[in-house]
Amino acid sequence: MVGARTAQTDHPLHDDIDNVVVSSEQIQERLQDIAAEIDLQYADRNVLLVGVLKGAFIVMADLARYLTVPVEFDFMAVSSYGSATQTSGVVRILKDLDLDIAGRHVLVVEDIVDSGLTLNYLLRNLRARGPASLEIMALLSKPDQIRVDLPIRYHGFQVPNVFVVGYGLDYAERYRHLPYVGTLKPSVYRD
Ligand code: 5GP
Repeated sequence: MVGARTAQTDHPLHDDIDNVVVSSEQIQERLQDIAAEIDLQYADRNVLLVGVLKGAFIVMADLARYLTVPVEFDFMAVSSYGSATQTSGVVRILKDLDLDIAGRHVLVVEDIVDSGLTLNYLLRNLRARGPASLEIMALLSKPDQIRVDLPIRYHGFQVPNVFVVGYGLDYAERYRHLPYVGTLKPSVYRD
């Protein structure tokens, strides 16, 4: 394969990474297991995957390619009011769904759940539209921080209470395309 990267450390942005928290191999293995569970759960149904932009676009694309059940896609973009590091739980919908989800089997795909306030708001909003079922898949969570009890049906990994980037997650819109999840070197924040 021309130009194939054999190891995650080959990535040009790897120099900015302090620690790899979840490796690319770990993510892909877990996604295959989750996809097998979803295939079973939705065996006789059409599932509508709802990705929460921007962070979920990578996990949604990889997860979907491990699924064998019929899948449709839609996206929402939200922004939460509050400071950069503290969400307030008040969420503004920047982009709403294109599809009507009434009577649909909806699976919300989220990159990371921190306080859980964003997803909590989103769930209440989506539930009011009358889906046949509504479940959550979250690749990452920070358990120490969860302030609300969210019914996360499919879960990837718990990460420590530190700021992570990669696999959809950004710092100042960068690093989303790293194939793994990691922490940034302190020097990156200073530059
Ligand atoms: P919550 O409402 O659960 O506190 O916030 C969830 C959102 O905050 C995520 O969808 C993500 O956009 C952002 N977020 C939380 N923790 C991190 C992190 O460690 N790194 C990055 N890049 N974003 C995070």
